[in-house]
Amino acid sequence: MALYVQKYGGTSVGTIERIEAVADKLKTFHEQGHQLVVAVSAMSGETNRLISLAKGISDSPSPREMDVLVSTGEQVTIALLAMALDKRGIHARSFTGWQVGIKTDNAFMKARIEDIETSKMREVLDAGGICIVAGFQGIDGDNNITTLGRGGSDTTGVALAAALKADECQIYTDVDGVYTTDPRVVPAARRMDKVTFEEMLEMASLGSKVLQIRSVEFAGKYKVPLRVLSSFKEGNGTLITTEETSSVENPVISGIAFNRDEAKVTVKGVPDVPGVASRILVPVSAANIEVDMIIQNVSDDGSTDFTFTVHRNDYKKALKILSELATELNAKSVSGTDDICKVSMVGVGMRSHAGVASKMFETLANESVNILAITTSEIKISVVIEEKYLELAVRALHTAFGLDAEVTEEQ
Ligand code: ADP
Ligand code: ASP
Ligand code: MG
Repeated sequence: MALYVQKYGGTSVGTIERIEAVADKLKTFHEQGHQLVVAVSAMSGETNRLISLAKGISDSPSPREMDVLVSTGEQVTIALLAMALDKRGIHARSFTGWQVGIKTDNAFMKARIEDIETSKMREVLDAGGICIVAGFQGIDGDNNITTLGRGGSDTTGVALAAALKADECQIYTDVDGVYTTDPRVVPAARRMDKVTFEEMLEMASLGSKVLQIRSVEFAGKYKVPLRVLSSFKEGNGTLITTEETSSVENPVISGIAFNRDEAKVTVKGVPDVPGVASRILVPVSAANIEVDMIIQNVSDDGSTDFTFTVHRNDYKKALKILSELATELNAKSVSGTDDICKVSMVGVGMRSHAGVASKMFETLANESVNILAITTSEIKISVVIEEKYLELAVRALHTAFGLDAEVTEEQ
């Protein structure tokens, strides 16, 4: 008998039929004698619907009220799932974040979990029941409702597993594991049986939304065994592991991640003098805008061009700040674009292999894809390219680095 925390995502609970199917699945685990705590997302599309209602009222709604609003989606699902279990004769109790004692900091819309009380959940488990907990939400020190950022139910699942010292945290979703890249973009993507925490962290932070990055950080920190599985298909899914498989079995590249939420701002013709980078970037960070990549061109006539990338949501704000500063900076012009994306290759095997970058650049050049910016770290290389080339670039790299699955009947 094991204690499992299972998390079911939006698509897995997207209709009444699917909620009934999840209840059937839980019944089977329950009958096998396992103890279950279940975190659920809002029904698919619901969080987006709620956000668009808010946008109908204001362009910049209060973050506190946004959290009151968007947290309601998950409350619907917990009640429906508890009813479905009840119908099957299984004792089940639903809990919102505050009812179960998920304490967070007060950063609305991106709160971090600080503590979880387990007594309520233990009571239900001890009585032979199943606990159903609303994902994505918690409560701060002043009893305000908070949410954990998009995709945050993954983090609820992992945090519950850490607090309860569960045997495994199982993330049930609409794909049957973590793939070498998003299988919706590359049909030849391959499911991995195992992926290291280090690689999963990079993939999640570089745009693979199969797991919210904080859930991976949390699982790494508290040593929670974490697995991604399909709600619809049998199988063992993908285990996120601390073990580093030997580089003989390990391909140089494990996966390719991409992110469309990118934009870049270029300040042209600024005097190339000490302090120019800080004069451009300090006002941007003062406005709470996170800068990702930075490129400064080599200067020839004593002036230089300075480019940086930001999240697409912050693009207009960053462009406005620098346009207003252009005269003060002695810049010739300030321009930008938000039709770019970032493609990243990730792999612990990169540490012991040279030539990955040159092969990546050559592959993109063969497809006539122009690289606008590059960054590297020990286990990843990222490039910024025009968004219209995203699919082409990811597919070409996937093939070039030998990641394509062998074609089987099923595919
Ligand atoms: P849920 O609603 O269950 O939380 P998400 O939509 O947040 O599901 O995450 C699952 C999706 O993540 C998949 O449908 C897939 O399109 C996408 N995805 C992106 N990168 C990967 C990857 N490397 N492996 C698997 N899925 C990925
Ligand atoms: N419902 C939230 C979202 O759509 C949280 C989640 O699904 O993980 O982002
Ligand atoms: Mg998700």
